[in-house]
Amino acid sequence: MPLKDRMPDPATPPGSRTKARVTAIPGDGIGPEVMRATRQVLDAAGARLEWEEALAGAEAFRRGIASGAPRETLDSIERNGVALKGPLETPVGYGETSANVALRKTFEMYGNIRPVRELPGIRTPFSGRGIDFVVVRENVEDLYAGIEYMQTPGVALGLKLITEPGCERIVGLAAALAAAEGRRKVTVATKANIMKLTEGMLKRVGERVLMEHPALQHEHMIVDNCAHQMVIRPEQFDVVVMTNMNGDILSDLAAGLVGGLGVAPSANLGDRVAMFEAVHGSAPQIAGKGLANPTALLLSSLMMLRHIGDFATARRVEHALYVTLEEGRELTGDIAREGPGASTGAFVDRVIANLGRESALVPAREYRPIALRQWPQVTWSRAVASREMAGVDVFIETDQDPETIGGSLAAMAEGSAFTLTAIGSRGAQVWPATGGHSFLVDQFRARFLFRTPPEGDATTAITDLLQRIGREYRWMHLETLQRFDGVAGYSVA
Ligand code: NAP
Repeated sequence: MPLKDRMPDPATPPGSRTKARVTAIPGDGIGPEVMRATRQVLDAAGARLEWEEALAGAEAFRRGIASGAPRETLDSIERNGVALKGPLETPVGYGETSANVALRKTFEMYGNIRPVRELPGIRTPFSGRGIDFVVVRENVEDLYAGIEYMQTPGVALGLKLITEPGCERIVGLAAALAAAEGRRKVTVATKANIMKLTEGMLKRVGERVLMEHPALQHEHMIVDNCAHQMVIRPEQFDVVVMTNMNGDILSDLAAGLVGGLGVAPSANLGDRVAMFEAVHGSAPQIAGKGLANPTALLLSSLMMLRHIGDFATARRVEHALYVTLEEGRELTGDIAREGPGASTGAFVDRVIANLGRESALVPAREYRPIALRQWPQVTWSRAVASREMAGVDVFIETDQDPETIGGSLAAMAEGSAFTLTAIGSRGAQVWPATGGHSFLVDQFRARFLFRTPPEGDATTAITDLLQRIGREYRWMHLETLQRFDGVAGYSVA
């Protein structure tokens, strides 16, 4: 169902609205406690929600469900389109996957949104700087696609997979979020200076997409400098968009600026489903003791209320939470100003008692629904006017030295369609020798270029080359070198 169709009209008086049904996954460890606390506050605030409780995490793994999320849970999320989720642990010995990753991938929740805002009463070295930005992290691609291989017994390879539509939709989401929250600037942070094709894709697509939003300022920043700038001058950021792994690391860094994971909310958005969760884990050390701080899940639930169009209740709860934090009377141990801190229940009671009070510290921000582009359910592809096959990279396992390998591979290629042009070790050229001092391991990449461009299918020529190589060397991977519209689609060693 399109997002806009799921949204009640915010202008409709609350009493006349039907209840929005939400899948509630209490999760593991402190999950059930913070979920109970959050629901108590939302119910007391009059949120028109109907909760459908569902199981995921440790108990699902114990029941032998390999993904950690039973079918009924997936059906519930699919039906409702909105879920509020507690932390899920990945118990060692019950399955290899993470239930969180399974949920994210099942529903293609490609956008992870992490607001980073200074909270009243939570003192950090950055208090008073007015930090208020949002990290938008691509959530399903990159090194987290989980495509990994042991190429030799001691050499592992992980593929960093970045796609053009993946970049387009995450930058589109960043722009839509900026528009919905009245934000003015989007920073695209990448490592495009080193990874020109993968990280470079986000930079290139980002520039193109953001040109279509003239009301937004946009800039590119190298991601390591972005980490530095976040600590030196965090108030300069408004919306920062990154690929999966960079976003994972920098969003945790950013959470540390404003009080840590315990108070950091998040949303996972896809075309069909949105799931809201605290950033922290199941904190098993404090589970069941009534010590957990529900602030992160409560803040996540405010993102959820805005997602379903209930801006008024979100505002009411946000003010009550801010007033409670400002008062500092009943704060849980992790954020208490002195002493051991209050229980989860006492904190919740205080927030409920403060419903209806206004905090002067809640930023004046008009929220509107995030207008997400709906992507058609078809296999995406980019048409090009021309493509040529330039050659192949063949990865081999050997403990020989580069001169020996170069001599024998060059001899093997004689009489084939290819000529050996270079051998690389861990990205550095080792043949022909360059005078460098590379440490050598038993995995080499041999680059063979076609003597003359092949006409039609190159499979026969490639198979012939592999057979020649296979007589002396163990090969484990082959990559074709292609040019699209005359542009090389491969890196140069
Ligand atoms: P964690 O659960 O976030 O806990 C780390 C520490 O942070 C806790 O021991 C606790 O510190 C503090 N903490 C976290 N949340 C808190 C809260 N709401 N109130 C008060 N204190 C809080 O991280 P972890 O120990 O690395 O991970 C534990 C499990 O959670 C693992 O199985 C992991 O896989 C899972 N996990 C799940 C998610 C998710 O579902 N999205 C995310 C991260 C981790 P003190 O011990 O000092 O009190």
